[in-house]
Amino acid sequence: MASLKVCSKSYNSKQMSADVQKLMADDYVTSAKGIFEYLLGGSTDKKLLAVRVFDEKTKRVAYKKQTQDVKDKGKSNCPLCALGHDANKAKIWELDEMDADHVSAWSKGGDSSAKNCQTLCSTHNRAKGNR
Ligand SMILES: [Zn+2]
Repeated sequence: MASLKVCSKSYNSKQMSADVQKLMADDYVTSAKGIFEYLLGGSTDKKLLAVRVFDEKTKRVAYKKQTQDVKDKGKSNCPLCALGHDANKAKIWELDEMDADHVSAWSKGGDSSAKNCQTLCSTHNRAKGNR
């Protein structure tokens, strides 16, 4: 029997299979083959899991609501821009300039329902996704 090559990174195989089970059972994970790669890579690259994202309709509803909410307040419809101090703090972004984002992160148990959806300008969405 050929000996199994293990990568230099050490991991607890019991923990590993528990994590695999958990991700396999997660409705939002759409790529089963990405799970191992994701875990072996230190659970950082969520792209590998192809986590289900918000559909266009959910995004549009969230966008409309947010834009309506700030209309008379002179604030940006990107909640993170609104908190800032630069010119963008009052900017109203177009729908296609924004990306749907999980209010409570998927990795922390947030789901992909409309309640958990907010739109962020693409800059802020990208900044958040890298964390
Ligand atoms: Zn922003």
